[in-house]
Amino acid sequence: MAGAGIGGLTAALALVRNGFRVVVLEQAERLEETGAGIQLTPNATRMLIALGLEERLRPHVVAPAAVRVLNAASGREIVRMPLGDTAAQRYGAPYWAIHRGDLQAALVAAVAQHLDITVKLGMRMEDFVAHGNGVTVSAHGRGGVSDERGLALIAADGLWSRARARIGFSEPPRFAGKTAWRAIVPAKEVPPEFREPVVHLWLGRDAHLVHYPVKAGRVVNIVAITGDSWNAPGWSEPAGRADLIPRLATEPWATPARALIGLPDAWLKWSLYERRALTRWSRGPVTLIGDAAHPMLPFLAQGAAMAIEDAAMAAQCLARNPTDAAAAWRTFHALRFGRTWKVQRLAARNGARYHFSGMPAVLRDTAMRVIGGMALLRHYDWLYDWRPPTEFSIT
Ligand SMILES: Cc1cc2nc3c(=O)[nH]c(=O)nc-3n(C[C@H](O)[C@H](O)[C@H](O)COP(=O)(O)OP(=O)(O)OC[C@H]3O[C@@H](n4cnc5c(N)ncnc54)[C@H](O)[C@@H]3O)c2cc1C
Repeated sequence: MAGAGIGGLTAALALVRNGFRVVVLEQAERLEETGAGIQLTPNATRMLIALGLEERLRPHVVAPAAVRVLNAASGREIVRMPLGDTAAQRYGAPYWAIHRGDLQAALVAAVAQHLDITVKLGMRMEDFVAHGNGVTVSAHGRGGVSDERGLALIAADGLWSRARARIGFSEPPRFAGKTAWRAIVPAKEVPPEFREPVVHLWLGRDAHLVHYPVKAGRVVNIVAITGDSWNAPGWSEPAGRADLIPRLATEPWATPARALIGLPDAWLKWSLYERRALTRWSRGPVTLIGDAAHPMLPFLAQGAAMAIEDAAMAAQCLARNPTDAAAAWRTFHALRFGRTWKVQRLAARNGARYHFSGMPAVLRDTAMRVIGGMALLRHYDWLYDWRPPTEFSIT
């Protein structure tokens, strides 16, 4: 494995379940996640629960009762899409919101329990060579360069994937013209209605705002996404309230949203990038998964969910064909490409819709109101109700 993010750690757990021994190379010296929340939709929680993570995760999650969509200018609710018990019963798996640090800690703790998983921190995968017995991966760390030999390599090395370039796709990520700003505030500082277990989504002109409680309701995660020309790699560029406000000021925002945005003094920001869909993710015994294979804009809350689905499926494919990793990865791509491509496209389309202004925004809001919350949820059945094909299911 290369990369110990959400995709890499999940894949390691899925692989040992199938009897493989796993070495995870991670370039970071320490595993620490950004201070932000993440929504785990039922398609993702189903896989995490199947991998035995429910008990570790449950104490930290919030199960939102609904997604409440509001017009940022008027403050009026457009639609309320039910989640909570409705989603759990409909999909047989819960919809959760969690702090990324808590998700990562749960994955790390689960990985640490397995003698068959070795995580090597501070080791950057540099290159790999395929040969008759599998693959040799060279990694660079403080002690110099070292080699790891194995049957196969799963590269979960994220948006800026080195492995992606090495298998033949070297064009860099394309800046999407948007910045994500994030902050965490103690729940006691926000108005009671924003402490409720609800995902709030405010749609404004060239900007939107999402907030929901995490850490079992103790803090509220706030993310604003704005049109922007600032463009730099990395997840955690410090930013102030004064940087964000002008980007939201293309129209007046309703008082409760303005008040919430005014609470944090400090924000962290990151630029959003896209990459084109690939007709193959592998070369010989090496495959990409997660953001390395199909990074997506965050407007459907699916990047990590797709990485988790990939991780589970990649392990199942290799388990069914351990003597021919190249064939296993071709099956993996065939099983995953259509779905991840659809999600990638829909996320990009949502990004445009969320930021409409004028008549398109009026039509969007009217359409959502007419459709109604329950029908909106049904509209996502194909996404949230996903399960692996029977012969690939996790047992
Ligand atoms: C604003 C925003 C909000 C989001 N919200 C959600 C959400 O609500 N729900 C959701 O499902 N998704 C969400 N996502 C998407 C999600 O964060 C990503 O899709 C997910 O983290 C991808 O996981 P990954 O494991 O593929 O990659 P990453 O998390 O990027 O992990 C890659 C790992 O590989 C390591 N690495 C990189 N190169 C090397 C190398 N050469 N050698 C060794 N190690 C290496 C990195 O250090 C890192 O640890 C959001 C994204 C953004 C930007």
